[in-house]
Amino acid sequence: MKYLLALDQGTTSSRAIVYDETCTPVASAQKEFTQHFPRPGWVEHDASEIWHGVEEVARNAVNKAGIDAARIAAIGITNQRETVVLWDRKTGQPVARAIVWQDRRTSEYMSALREGGKEPLIQQKTGLVLDSYFSASKLHWLLRQVPEARARAAAGELAAGTIDSWLIYKLTGGREHVTDVTNACRTMLMNIHTGDWDDALLALFDIPKSVLPRIVSNGVKLAESDPGFLGKPVTICGGVGDQQSALFGQLCAKPGLVKCTYGTGCFMLLFTGAEPVTSKNRLLTTVAWKLGDAPLQYAIEGSVFVGGAAIQWLRDGLGIIRSAPEVNDLAAKVPDSGGVYIVPAFTGMGAPYWDATARGTVLGITRGTTAAHLARATLEGVAFQVADLLHAMVKDSGARISTLRVDGGAAASDLLMQIQADLVGVPIERPRNVETTALGAAMMAGLGAGLWRDVEELNKVREVERKFTAATTIKERRDRLKIWRKAVKRAQHWAG
Ligand code: ADP
Repeated sequence: MKYLLALDQGTTSSRAIVYDETCTPVASAQKEFTQHFPRPGWVEHDASEIWHGVEEVARNAVNKAGIDAARIAAIGITNQRETVVLWDRKTGQPVARAIVWQDRRTSEYMSALREGGKEPLIQQKTGLVLDSYFSASKLHWLLRQVPEARARAAAGELAAGTIDSWLIYKLTGGREHVTDVTNACRTMLMNIHTGDWDDALLALFDIPKSVLPRIVSNGVKLAESDPGFLGKPVTICGGVGDQQSALFGQLCAKPGLVKCTYGTGCFMLLFTGAEPVTSKNRLLTTVAWKLGDAPLQYAIEGSVFVGGAAIQWLRDGLGIIRSAPEVNDLAAKVPDSGGVYIVPAFTGMGAPYWDATARGTVLGITRGTTAAHLARATLEGVAFQVADLLHAMVKDSGARISTLRVDGGAAASDLLMQIQADLVGVPIERPRNVETTALGAAMMAGLGAGLWRDVEELNKVREVERKFTAATTIKERRDRLKIWRKAVKRAQHWAG
């Protein structure tokens, strides 16, 4: 039996999972790391702490699995996207803390670019909306603000990259400075049509190309890890951004296949194949992956800011449940929300509304409203937002959606999944293995190492745990969505 080691480097913790060649997880380890908030709106990570944490969880997971490193066919990496590290090529030490995707310090700089009319150029080349969320403005900031960074970068002394490229640099003892197309496309410096760094964008953000990693495909052998990492060298098959990894872990590899991850927020990606679809609803066009020499494949992506976090609000804000899973028992006490609608726009609304001034709204309360109705309306509020994303994707792509594949912590809720199926009228499939982010990286690594020939073969190991089908008519769905849209209108433009 051969094994695969997936390293899942997230925003708040790093995990390592060992899979066997049937994609069954056999051991895992996890470790949180420090979040630095030096000023309001700033979020930083210590890249060295992340690296040491990854080393620790990798060794722990391999020890727990009780296997010799020689039996690991390949290492696959998946990571928080957009976060940027700048480091010294010689010492392998970061020259500043990493700037995390959530960090808003470059908002004004990006607004100036918008006012300068740069948005159409950026959208056409990168598929992204003009926002400080992506890496380019963060790297621009680091090169300007870190003492001597610009001169040292020009002299070839510094290297920059997203977390995948930082980890691969460390894993190979500084021999490899690479990134993959799925991470590179989130920097706002890569042209998604060519898969290469774009000279016009590099000039716009004033980034010297020499500081950036080489862009490579997914699922290919890149290098061997330093023997110090696991005692023996192990083949590294590269990185993949977390959301694209989850899309692959769900094997959404045919146009029209779509997944939604229900975590703190919800992330939906629809695979569109070799055609990049330009959104009219402010969804992002993103590279899904590029497997070896095959052409670039694309997806459209949309996110809901508050998903599972709305359930946390019931627990921590209202105190009507003690733990997240309790929401299901409470909401199941009533057959419907009794006319209550909750728009969980606590931090504004994402696609397709894009309204930073929207705020949470509870509508339709009567004397008969109970905590159970609020709990149910909250679950519905999450599901309505996801339904809006799905409808925007269908409008943009013209795709016919046959099923929605789900994962993430809140997808464990049978009630939420049934509510979701009832709202979208599309069957929902929950896989046996809901850790699809790490699974996707392991699958890509396994392809690179030759454990499987192609995605078709991987489909044989995919197991659906449960299907949820709609128990509503088209008319019922339309009527409910109409009221929801009315509720959204009440939530919009509130804090402006
Ligand atoms: P993240 O990766 O964003 O930290 P997770 O995928 O771990 O998120 O999912 C955590 C979210 O799922 C929390 O917001 C929590 O409210 C919700 N959640 C977890 N378990 C359940 C459950 N059984 N029913 C409903 N919601 C749940």
